[in-house]
Amino acid sequence: MNKIKLIYEGKAKKVYETDDPSLAIFEYKDSLTAFNAQKKDTMQGKGRLTNLISATFLKLLQDKGIPTHFVKLLDDNHQLVKRLKIIPLEVVVRNTSTGSLCKRLGVEEGLDLVPPLVEFYLKNDELGDPLVTEDHIRAFGFASKPHVEKMKELCLKVNEILSKYLFERGIKLVDFKLEFGMDDEGNIFVADEISPDTCRFWDLTSKERLDKDRFRKDLGNVLEAYEEIWRRIADWDKSCSAEYRANILVYLKEGVLDTQGKAVLSSLHSLGYDEVKNVRVGKYIKITLTSPSQEDAASRVKEMCEDLLVNDLIEEYSFELEEI
Ligand code: ADP
Ligand code: UDP
Repeated sequence: MNKIKLIYEGKAKKVYETDDPSLAIFEYKDSLTAFNAQKKDTMQGKGRLTNLISATFLKLLQDKGIPTHFVKLLDDNHQLVKRLKIIPLEVVVRNTSTGSLCKRLGVEEGLDLVPPLVEFYLKNDELGDPLVTEDHIRAFGFASKPHVEKMKELCLKVNEILSKYLFERGIKLVDFKLEFGMDDEGNIFVADEISPDTCRFWDLTSKERLDKDRFRKDLGNVLEAYEEIWRRIADWDKSCSAEYRANILVYLKEGVLDTQGKAVLSSLHSLGYDEVKNVRVGKYIKITLTSPSQEDAASRVKEMCEDLLVNDLIEEYSFELEEI
């Protein structure tokens, strides 16, 4: 998949057209912005970290049945995504009071919000992304009522999955922002990115800020905090990995001429095995891999088959997985 043309350059990412009109390539940049881009900086290596962290979260959500735009990680700074029509809303979920919520309402920082708050902001840099109510969304047609309901439902599910995942790694998910987009059939997907640029992460015990607040508030060690999030994800995944063996069978589709099968059939007949009526010859591929779960291993093997091992025009496949 190649970058064909730059279609949009935003504050954190460049978006490229690809040879497939339904897909786009995201390039995560090293730039950091806050307060509607009034504060700006560049940190070498930040784009790599937000790309890797975002890909991990989006893939996790996808595996748990949440529709997301994520297709695959291409390299350290690029990922392939579904090209969508973005709904012009930023949806924020809050588990703990902080940030603009405290400023706006004068409430104390650090209050537990149970159930979590879901807020909608209009995605409009010129207006400074103002808070909007569901009545505003309906009155001005920013999104349909079913889409608003769907976004709220997905936000709460995403919150549950990510909160649990991060808790296991010693991180509190304080709040986060999601964007949503639609494909041509009107299906809704979680889009954009989920990273320390768009979430607040606090260390569970020390409450140390491990996100963009370090940049917003000049706390220092911004890149180190992003690295710490990535380290906790990667280390924990490694410690939980098991080894699996995939036994993959690749065979020609029914109806595709199998010349090897025909040759074997004719040789068997010439040796007197007249009872043999048909022979189809296939490939048997054995792969050993490490993975955090059987579910994840199965999804990786499926990707390998579709990307390389199987020619889906003429071949079919099946596989079994065993934990070693
Ligand atoms: P911003 O536009 O706020 O500066 P970015 O630098 O992150 O933000 O740019 C990425 C742009 O791509 C955003 O405007 C975002 O809404 C948009 N976007 C996110 N996901 C998709 C998608 N799947 N298809 C098309 N556009 C997307
Ligand atoms: N957020 C974001 N993009 C925005 C505004 C907010 O990703 O344009 C995220 C932010 O990182 C935080 C959450 O949404 O995790 C809530 O942010 P808040 O409304 O408190 O705004 P802020 O204090 O950042 O102005």
